[in-house]
Formats: sequence, structure tokens, C-alpha cells
Amino acid sequence: MRTLAIANQKGGVGKTTTAINLGTALAATGKRVVIFDTDPQGNASTGVDIPNEARTTGAYHVMRGEASFAQAVMPTKVPLLFIVPGEANLSGLETELMASQRPQYRLRDALAAFNANAAPGQGFDYMLIDCPPSLNILTVNALTAADGVLVPLQCEFFAMEGLKQLMDSIRAVKTNLNPVLEIQGIVLTMYDTRTKLSEQVATDVRNVLGDKVYETIIPRNVRLSEAPSHGLPAIIYDQN
Ligand code: ATP
Ligand code: MG
Repeated sequence: MRTLAIANQKGGVGKTTTAINLGTALAATGKRVVIFDTDPQGNASTGVDIPNEARTTGAYHVMRGEASFAQAVMPTKVPLLFIVPGEANLSGLETELMASQRPQYRLRDALAAFNANAAPGQGFDYMLIDCPPSLNILTVNALTAADGVLVPLQCEFFAMEGLKQLMDSIRAVKTNLNPVLEIQGIVLTMYDTRTKLSEQVATDVRNVLGDKVYETIIPRNVRLSEAPSHGLPAIIYDQN
């Protein structure tokens, strides 16, 4: 299983949209994919139509050690796409884990146990971890469990603000907790073809971050923002 953390402590840059639609696209190619929703907002879970009342066992319980990963995985309407739902309790996890052993390794340990025991055909090809907009213990758990980090960057003036902090955190996790961690790539999101600003930001980001930035750019498109309210990934809501 390849595990990617989708992270950026800046809010509203397209982390959840990337998790849902990349997950759907990978599932459409025949891969078994699970989204792990670490965000107390639970947007990824809402976006694949998992109602609040169905989130009885999720990321919170897995990271508390109250449920196994396998117990928390739920199917979605999209064939081959599964989710471990997130919910509001996750916001209290930081304080709750403070007193525990190895608080940064909760997700990694749960995954290791799952991978060691998964029945044939029950494992996953990809796990996409949707991180909250913060560099807190939830994001540290994601980075510690991941093979790579996918960073969505919004094509707006403050795009690179906070990026140094994120890169420092990734480096610190790699040094201290997870030596295999690498930057998978940086994806530019919400590109507005009508503005010079988007073009300028894209050029600046490429100048600074070079070939870590994907050639593919995600345009700003209203269908992407409408899709979650229908409980559907955008690439199913409006394939065009
Ligand atoms: P948070 O930090 O709160 O978790 P996020 O980084 O997960 O936010 P999203 O929730 O994916 O960001 O996106 C923020 C908002 O922008 C959402 O309402 C989403 O539907 C919308 N959005 C995301 N990508 C696009 C796009 N390419 N075009 C238009 N709207 C978009
Ligand atoms: Mg989000």
C-alpha cells in the first residue's frame, strides 16, 4: 500500500477536494483506495456522502486505539473507494494523546497491525490521508504514517506563505520519526485562467520548487465546489 498524506496547514487550499477526486480517479483505474479523514470538520466524509450519524467508528477511534483500522473502514458509493470517517471528536485528540505512549505513531501502528493481518484481497493499493488545516498531532500522525506528502497549493497571493513551516515540519518528521517520508509533489489548485495573478503565482512557485510541482494544474471550477453538496466526487458529479 502506498500512503500519501495530503497536507498544507493553510485552510481551504484544496486538500479535501484532492483526496476525494484523486481517490475516485485511482479507484476508477481498478485500485483499492481508502481515504483516512483526520479532519475534525469531516469534509472528506461529507463529500463522499457519509452522514454524521454513520460515523460511529472512525479515525478518532483508530487513533485512540479503541477500534482497529479494519473495523473503521466503510465503503462509499464509489466502487473500490473506501473511507475511514472523521468527526468532531478529533479536535480533542491532541490533549487526549498527550499522556499516551508514542502519540505520533498512533496511525502508523494501526496501519502496521492492519497490513499484518489483512486477508487476501482486503488490503488497499493506496491510502490518502486528508489532513486538517494545522500542523498538529493529527498531521504529524499522517506524516509519520505516510510514504509521501502531496501538497495542494492555491494559486493565490499568499500561496507560499507558511510553506517554509510545512517543509520544516516534513523535514523534522523525516529526521525524527519517519525516514522514508518524501515530498510526492505539489499540485497547484484553483487556477483562474482569467487572472494574471494565477499565472504569476504558478510561475513563482515553479521557480522556487522546481520539478516537485506537477505540470497538471487544477483550474478553479464551480462544479468542483458544488459536488460535495451532492455527496459526489466532482469527477462523477460532472465528468466533463
Ligand atoms: P480545509 O483546510 O478547511 O480542510 P481544504 O484544503 O481541504 O480546506 P477544500 O475543502 O478541498 O480545501 O476546498 C476549499 C473550498 O474550495 C471548498 O468549498 C471546495 O469545494 C472549493 N474548491 C476546491 N477546489 C476548487 C476548485 N478547483 N475550483 C473551485 N472550488 C474549489
Ligand atoms: Mg479539508
